[in-house]
Amino acid sequence: MNFSVLVHNLRCSLLRIESRLLQITGLDAQLAPGLAVNGPSLLPRIDQDPQHDEDQTTSLLDSILWMAAPKKRRTIEVNRTRRRDERKFDKVKSNIEPCPECGHLKQNYILCGFCYAKVCRETALIRQQIKEMEGGPLRAPTVETVVLYEGETPSKQDREKRIVERPRKRPAWFSH
Ligand SMILES: [Zn+2]
Repeated sequence: MNFSVLVHNLRCSLLRIESRLLQITGLDAQLAPGLAVNGPSLLPRIDQDPQHDEDQTTSLLDSILWMAAPKKRRTIEVNRTRRRDERKFDKVKSNIEPCPECGHLKQNYILCGFCYAKVCRETALIRQQIKEMEGGPLRAPTVETVVLYEGETPSKQDREKRIVERPRKRPAWFSH
């Protein structure tokens, strides 16, 4: 169907509904001057022949990306069959096993989330301690840093490095 004819018909029916509503509510006499305002100039006029202003709408048609619209409504059964298709289910994982460190279930060849979180927490505490030791930005020494836990002594090659001492026993999962 021609676009301008479609717009024309739509506009006519809208105006008809509007006037009918106004008649029903009895407002048509009061609001008569307000209804005389011009509509947007993009839409074809009612009093003109729709074939006449085809050249006006061609520029409008060029500027719009037209997409395919469904002609028929799909039933809810069809939609649900598509949505709940077997291929859309999550695959059953057969590679789940307990973590050798903490016992939480994890996937094979994937880092255990619980162990990772523990290491993250400990690392954040060490970083915080280093920050307090330095007392400000850009004051890091040019030597390496060694973290020592309670009851540990620096080895020979660690003597010249910066030593961060943690006031706790070394966790079993936090190795060198
Ligand atoms: Zn774990």
